[in-house]
Amino acid sequence: MNWFGRRSSRGEEKFEAWIKRLHEQHVASGQTEPVGPHPSEEFLRGLANRSRAISLSDGRIDHAAACPNCMSRIVALRNENSERKRKLAYVLVAVTCVVLAVAIFGWFHLRQNRQQTMALSTPVTKTVDLWNAGTNRGEQPRQLKSVELPAAVVRLTVILPRFSPSGQYLIAVTRKEDGAGIVAEGLASTVSTGGQETVSVALDLRKATAGAYFLSTTHEQDQAAYYYPLQIR
Ligand SMILES: [Zn+2]
Repeated sequence: MNWFGRRSSRGEEKFEAWIKRLHEQHVASGQTEPVGPHPSEEFLRGLANRSRAISLSDGRIDHAAACPNCMSRIVALRNENSERKRKLAYVLVAVTCVVLAVAIFGWFHLRQNRQQTMALSTPVTKTVDLWNAGTNRGEQPRQLKSVELPAAVVRLTVILPRFSPSGQYLIAVTRKEDGAGIVAEGLASTVSTGGQETVSVALDLRKATAGAYFLSTTHEQDQAAYYYPLQIR
């Protein structure tokens, strides 16, 4: 007979066998009345919990084994105990699920963010050819054919107009033709390639809204700026 209505470890089986034997002895000897007063609730709880502090020779065990009241109280305490353990297990499982869900969500979110950031900050390489654009002061620059830049980080290479001096240039994207409303700018020295002077700068156009802008080139000594129409899309 399993007194406590659940699977037992070997130690518990020994304990239960002990109580069962005591119970049988009581029945065999015709002593069905429990000896002594009911032990305290604390002691019964200790029995229910298989407290190691309780010695098997404790006389109160003798009483409990013969006393239906104490036995049923022990069984109730046992069930209460295992119910609490089961609830604790549910809580642990629930907490683990939440932690896992948060971790997985966080990981996906982070990965997605990183991909978006990567996509936005990976420079787009563009070349603007101003070789045939007029540079004479006061001369209206010829309309450039479809100079378009994306609203991204742009690695821009400008092929400067014919006869442009070498040196350092400030390349800027502005809203107005007079240089007002600078969206982005970069400073770099010219590089001579095949008789052409080119300047490469990184321009962060991520915050620019689509529309009409101007691309300007300013030589460090000359200080005269040249503006060319530009579209950001
Ligand atoms: Zn009792």
